[in-house]
Amino acid sequence: MYYRLFLLHSKLLKALSNPKRLEIIQLIREQELTVREIQEMLDLPQGNLSQHLQVLRAAGVVKTRRVGKQIYYSIAHKNFIKASDLFREVLIERHRDEISDIAFKKMADLVPLTSDPVCGMRVSPKTSAFALKNKGHEFYFCGSGCFEKFKKNPARYNEFSFKGVLSK
Ligand SMILES: [Zn+2]
Repeated sequence: MYYRLFLLHSKLLKALSNPKRLEIIQLIREQELTVREIQEMLDLPQGNLSQHLQVLRAAGVVKTRRVGKQIYYSIAHKNFIKASDLFREVLIERHRDEISDIAFKKMADLVPLTSDPVCGMRVSPKTSAFALKNKGHEFYFCGSGCFEKFKKNPARYNEFSFKGVLSK
């Protein structure tokens, strides 16, 4: 029995052991999302994403809820978020020089809720997956998909995001 728990624990960590899957957990930490929404945010091919979601679901990390044709994904237990945050805190402390000021500051939760300039999703600096400083403003993104889109053409989003930052 004693050893069985270690086995189960390592199985769970194996399911979590992928950067995209860790990112998915961050995306749905405070909201449920459809596959389509997650796909846009991560900019991943559908087949690839389905596989990741399947692994997380089989491990009991995420749960689903069907509404008509849509399937919504959410976190199955709040401790998955807590555990993820704890590990991230250690890593940010240890890699302070590689990770930008913004990434470090976001753990301190100093800045209020803002919105992702690309998709408009509400993100907080503490929990957003990506941050970027552009023309003196700090922008926060739900995931790598939006982050990459913004980097390709910041001018396209600047006006909208500026408003988003101010109004929240
Ligand atoms: Zn986004």
